[in-house]
Amino acid sequence: MNNLHPMSEKPEFKPCLCGNKEIDSRAPKGNPFSGHDIRCGKCFLLTPTFDTLEELVAYWNSRPIEDALKSRIKELETQAWNQEADSTKSEMAYVKTIDRLNKVLKSLIKTSERSRIAERVFGWDDNLNKIKQALEKS
Ligand SMILES: [Zn+2]
Repeated sequence: MNNLHPMSEKPEFKPCLCGNKEIDSRAPKGNPFSGHDIRCGKCFLLTPTFDTLEELVAYWNSRPIEDALKSRIKELETQAWNQEADSTKSEMAYVKTIDRLNKVLKSLIKTSERSRIAERVFGWDDNLNKIKQALEKS
């Protein structure tokens, strides 16, 4: 991966570990042997000195632990998202079951009301008693 801009030759540096985004290499001051390094203006973190700017960019932008942590976070986010989806599904199934039970309950209440009304209208209890009395006499 080439981190250098073809026109300006100004490399892209990742922010410093302290969060400082204004990171730039310290160019050799007219001395071809002075090398390239970075010194953070905020936390004063200092890199080793490299012969070429490319080496410095590669060193500075290489963050194996940070990259590993980022991909682990991504992995866990995906996992959490999937678990959330699963629990939403089971919640929906629960709500559906409750809904179905409520319907059954309502129809049972209606049926029992109907039978109570039927008892009152047709006097089933009275008729039963009359039949019982008739049976006892005979
Ligand atoms: Zn810093």
